[in-house]
Amino acid sequence: MQKIKFRFKGDHVDSFAQLGTLRAVFVDLTNCCNLRCKYCFNYRSLQAPPSHLALDLIEKALRSKLAASVRDWFLSGGEPALYDRLPESLALFREHGLGPKIATNGTLLSPEIIDMWAGLGVRSLQFSLDTLDPEVHVDLNGGGKRGHETLLRNLEYAVQSPLRVVVSSVLTKPNKREIKNIMAFCFESGVDSYTLYPNVPSERLNQELIVPFPELLELTDELFSAYSALSPSKVLDVTIPCFAKSSTYAKWKDRLALRLHYCAAAQYALKITSDGRVSACICQDSDPFIIGDLRRDGLDDIWISEKARAFRSLYREIPECRACPESPVCRGGCRNNASLFGSNGLRSLDPYCRYFKSREESFDPTVPPSIDRTD
Ligand code: SF4
Ligand code: SF4
Ligand code: SF4
Repeated sequence: MQKIKFRFKGDHVDSFAQLGTLRAVFVDLTNCCNLRCKYCFNYRSLQAPPSHLALDLIEKALRSKLAASVRDWFLSGGEPALYDRLPESLALFREHGLGPKIATNGTLLSPEIIDMWAGLGVRSLQFSLDTLDPEVHVDLNGGGKRGHETLLRNLEYAVQSPLRVVVSSVLTKPNKREIKNIMAFCFESGVDSYTLYPNVPSERLNQELIVPFPELLELTDELFSAYSALSPSKVLDVTIPCFAKSSTYAKWKDRLALRLHYCAAAQYALKITSDGRVSACICQDSDPFIIGDLRRDGLDDIWISEKARAFRSLYREIPECRACPESPVCRGGCRNNASLFGSNGLRSLDPYCRYFKSREESFDPTVPPSIDRTD
C-alpha cells in the first residue's frame, strides 16, 4: 500500500524488507463492516455475501514453512471486531508464539474488548481516523456521529493500554485540509505513529475524492515541515516508489530520516482474503492480483507458484520500466494504481511515474521506449 508514515517514537523503526522473503501477511478475517467508507479499498469484497475466514486456513498459513520469516501478521477486514471467530483465531496465533496486529475502524470497540484483545496476545492496534469532524465522518465513512465519538474514546483508552497504538488516515478531498491537525492530534494523544495513505481505491469509484498527485506533493511538503517542528523523532517511511523524483524529497531528504520503500506486492507481502484466496496486493482482490488459493494449496507453494513469480517480475513487461535504469529497485511502482488508471491493465505505467516523465522535456507518451536488456 502506498503510504507516508510519520514516526513519533524513535524506538520502533522497521528494518528494510528483503525482496523475495515473505515478511508481512495481511489477513482479511471477514468482509463484513459496519462502515461504508467512500474510498474503501475492499469495496468489491464488501459487496459479496458475508464471509468469515475459516480457522483451519489461518492454521494452515501459520503452519507453513514461510511463517518463520513473517514478522508481521496484520488482521484486517472488513472490520475485525465483526469476525465471528476472533478469540479462537487469536488463540491460534498465541499457540504459535505470535502477537498479531489488528487494523480497526475503532467504532465497535470498548475498553473491555481492547483489554480482551491485549490479554489474547494482540501486539498493536491500528485505528482508522480520517477526520476529527463528526460531520465529515458521517459523510466520508458512512458512520454515525456517536460512532465517531466512540472511536475517539477507544483510541484514548487504547493509548493507555499495554498495546502499541498507531493511527492512519486515507487522504481524500473532504479531509485534506485536516491532515495536519490529525497528525498533531495523534502526536499529542501519545500514539506511536501516524500513517497517511493516498487514496487509491480498488475500483474506479468516487474518483472525485482523489487528491491529484501534484497537490499530494505540496501537502507532503507542508506535513514534513509540521512534523519536523512537532516530533523529536524525525523518522519517516515513504512507500511511494516515484517519490524520490520529487522536489519535496530533494528538499527534505537531508533534514529528516526519510526512508523510501518500494511496492511490497508478492515481493515481501501478500494478503489472504476472507474467502481464502491469496492476493499479491493488500488493496486488491480482483483476478489479476490473485496468485493462489489457500483452500487448495499451501502458502509455501503459492509463494513460489508460477503466478507469484509472474507477478513479481511484471515490471519487465512494462515498456517504460524495461527501459528504466531504476527498475531493479523500483520494480514498476504501484500495480494497483497503474491498473486502475492506465490503459494497459496490470502492464500500465504507474501514473505517479507518468507525472514525472511528462515533465521531462524528452518524454513523448505516444512513442514507445526502446527496449533494452535489463532482464
Ligand atoms: S500494488 Fe504495491 S504499492 Fe500498490 S497498493 Fe498494492 S502493495 Fe501497495
Ligand atoms: S472501515 Fe475499512 S473495510 Fe470498512 S468500509 Fe471503511 S475502509 Fe472499508
Ligand atoms: S519507469 Fe517503471 S521502474 Fe522506472 S521509475 Fe517509473 S515505475 Fe519505476
